[in-house]
Amino acid sequence: MSQIKSGLTRRGAMVAAAGVLATPYISKFTITPAEAKAPMMGVSMPSHYRFKLGGFEMASFHDGVWQPDGPHPIFGQNVSAEEVQKLAADNMLPTAKMEIQFAPVVVNTGNELVLFDTGNGAARRPNAGNLAAAMKGAGYTPDQVDVVVITHFHPDHIGGLMEDGKPAFPNARYVTHEAEYNFWTKPEAMEGGLARVGKLTASNVKPLADKFTFIKDGADVVSGIRAMEATGHTPGHTAYHIESDGKRILLGGDFCNHYVVSMQRPDWHVRFDMDKEGAAATRKKVLGMLASEKIPFTSYHMPFPAVGYVEAMGEGYRYVPASYQMNL
Ligand SMILES: [Zn+2]
Repeated sequence: MSQIKSGLTRRGAMVAAAGVLATPYISKFTITPAEAKAPMMGVSMPSHYRFKLGGFEMASFHDGVWQPDGPHPIFGQNVSAEEVQKLAADNMLPTAKMEIQFAPVVVNTGNELVLFDTGNGAARRPNAGNLAAAMKGAGYTPDQVDVVVITHFHPDHIGGLMEDGKPAFPNARYVTHEAEYNFWTKPEAMEGGLARVGKLTASNVKPLADKFTFIKDGADVVSGIRAMEATGHTPGHTAYHIESDGKRILLGGDFCNHYVVSMQRPDWHVRFDMDKEGAAATRKKVLGMLASEKIPFTSYHMPFPAVGYVEAMGEGYRYVPASYQMNL
């Protein structure tokens, strides 16, 4: 009886001891995570990528994002929603929501700093319109920009030309295709479906008109940067060959605006292409050239940092993001 009792007592003592030990351990456990708790801060992205092209330096900037419903009906207007959704799902993409990124680019030739497109500007802040902040992060200031090249006049490309009613790049001259300028400055562009771009052209481009020069297919912006007509997306949409010390890259503007849908199905119509068939023909021509010549390209709406390659695949092409090719 006493043995049993003492046994119980020993067990009781062990339980009590465990309890005593457990108490501070448990309370420490409950306090520690609370002390270490980090706040949720949302998605973040790098704001620039600076890279080499022969003797040139280039950088792409993350102006921001827009997250509309899609890819259908923005992409694949001439096919069924189901077909577009299947292509998205087959490529591990959401079928109902998408993200469009904006990537202006600078080229430092050593003599001039040339900026291609200016982002969305104040109209889309805070989600986009962050070019100036991204440039600052990369070590550039707006007053260093010597030339601003506008690939075409859509709002995500000319929105950042002016800031608070003043030129955002005060020392720059401007270059674009004459057909683009003429189309968006004609009176009809202030009406109906064209009015949004027409009015933005009036506020952001026209005040700079005397600093604009027009470029044609095959002409040079500066030595090493040559225009290549790529119409269809808009009447004067222009791409650019950039070359230094035998290294080449194509700056494509908006010739191909979804890294899966427009690459794998270049024939599919896109809402933002003004001439659907013309844009598809340009897309196939440029993608074919990039795939056969195996040169890198940067294009405004490719996944950031928007530098990659194109590989032929099936009835279309595949996007191959650059890794370290441009760092060496
Ligand atoms: Zn665009």
